[in-house]
Amino acid sequence: MDGMKILVINCGSSSLKYQFIDMKTEEVLAKGLCERIGLENSFVKHTKHFNGDDSVTLNKNLSDHKVAIKEVLDLLIDAKYGVISNMSEISAVGHRIVHGAERFKSSTLIDDKVIEGLKDCIEIAPLHNPPNITGIEACMHLMPGVPMVGVFDTAFHQTMPAHSYMYALPYEYYEKYKVRKYGFHGTSHKYVSERAAILAGKPIESLKIVSCHLGNGSSVCAIDGGKSVDTSMGFTPLEGIIMGTRCGSIDPALVTYIMQKEGLDIKAMNDILNKNSGILGISGVSSDFRDVLDAAEAGNERAAQSIDVFCYQVRKLIGQCAAVMGGIDIIIFTAGIGENSGTLRKTIVEGLDFMGIGIDDTKNSVRGEEIDISTDSAKVRTMIIPTNEELAIARETKRIVRK
Ligand code: ADP
Repeated sequence: MDGMKILVINCGSSSLKYQFIDMKTEEVLAKGLCERIGLENSFVKHTKHFNGDDSVTLNKNLSDHKVAIKEVLDLLIDAKYGVISNMSEISAVGHRIVHGAERFKSSTLIDDKVIEGLKDCIEIAPLHNPPNITGIEACMHLMPGVPMVGVFDTAFHQTMPAHSYMYALPYEYYEKYKVRKYGFHGTSHKYVSERAAILAGKPIESLKIVSCHLGNGSSVCAIDGGKSVDTSMGFTPLEGIIMGTRCGSIDPALVTYIMQKEGLDIKAMNDILNKNSGILGISGVSSDFRDVLDAAEAGNERAAQSIDVFCYQVRKLIGQCAAVMGGIDIIIFTAGIGENSGTLRKTIVEGLDFMGIGIDDTKNSVRGEEIDISTDSAKVRTMIIPTNEELAIARETKRIVRK
C-alpha cells in the first residue's frame, strides 16, 4: 500500500492544477497546470521530476475539464514526459473541494451519495464547488474503479464552537440557509500546525498555535490542542483580512450604501468586493504584494498604506487569537507572502514583544524552509512553515483509501 501513487487534482472554474505523488517517498513525480479551460488559447504546463526537472508547455484545445484531465492522464503515461507506463499505476485520486458545509466534517471516499451531497453544497459555494464537482465527475468517467477522495478546505474548522461560528443574524437564516462561519484554508492550517508541533518537539495537543496563511487569499486560524477554534474567513473566503483583490471584513452597511450610490446590481457589487478591492483597491497598483511593496519603496503612498492596513489587520488577528485561546505558544507564517516576505513578517509582529513575541533578523532572512525564526529570549516560537496542500491531500487520500 505504501507503493501507492496518488494523483491530486485542484479544479478551478477555468484552471486545473495537478500533482502526481509517490507515497512511498512522498516525492512529486510530475505536476502541472491546465489554464484557460473552455476558453481560447488554452494550454497545459507539465513538469516531470525525474533525473532533474523537465518542463513542457503544450497549446491544446481544452474545451472542458474532461478534455483537460484526459490530457493530464495522457501526459502521465507519455513516452517522453510521462512517469508511469500504464494508467493502472494511479492508485487513487485526491480532490481538493472548497466547501463541505456542515455535511462533510472530514475527508471522504466519493460515491454517488457524496456527489449528491456536494451538489447540495453548491448553493452556499456557487463559485467554487461546481468546478470541483466537474473535475470529480470527469475523473470518475476517465478512471472507472479508481478510488476518489474529497478533501475539504472547510473540514478542519468544523471543530469551531458555536460562539465563534454564529453570525448575529435572525436564527432562521442559519436554519434555512446554513448561514454561519465555515472558514477555509483548512488543509493548509492543519498541515502547517502539525509540522510546527514536530519542529517544536511537542505534542500538538499541548500547544496553542496561531497559523497565518498569507497568500493571494489570506486567513489566520487559532488552533488549540490541534483543533481549529476560530478563523478569520467566514461563510465565504471574503471575510477576514484584506487580500490581493478581496476586501476582507468591512462594515456590512457599506454594501447597500455603495450599491445605492453607484447604482450597482448584485453581480457588480460582488465583483467589486471580490476582484477590485483589497491591496489592489487601496493601492491602485496591483494585487501582487511584490509589485505593491516595490511601489511603496519607490514612494507610492497608497501602496504603503495598503501594506500598513494588511500588517495591522494580521497583527490584530494574532491578538484576537491570543485572547480566544488564553495565550500563544507558536505563530506560523505560511503561503506566498508568509513564506517569502521577511519584511512583512517583521512588520506584522512589530510591537508584540509585550506578548513574548520576537523575530531574529538573521533567521528571518531565510526562505522556503521550515525554521524557527524567534529570538532566543522570545517566549512564543515564531516559525516559517512552507505549506504543502497537495501533499496533505495525498496523505488524506491514502488514509481514507486504506480504511
Ligand atoms: P495562492 O493563495 O494563490 O495559493 P500564494 O500562496 O502562492 O497564493 O501567494 C501568492 C502571493 O504571494 C502573491 O500576492 C505574491 O505577491 C506573494 N509573494 C510571493 N513572493 C513574495 C515575496 N518575496 N514578497 C512578498 N510577497 C510575495
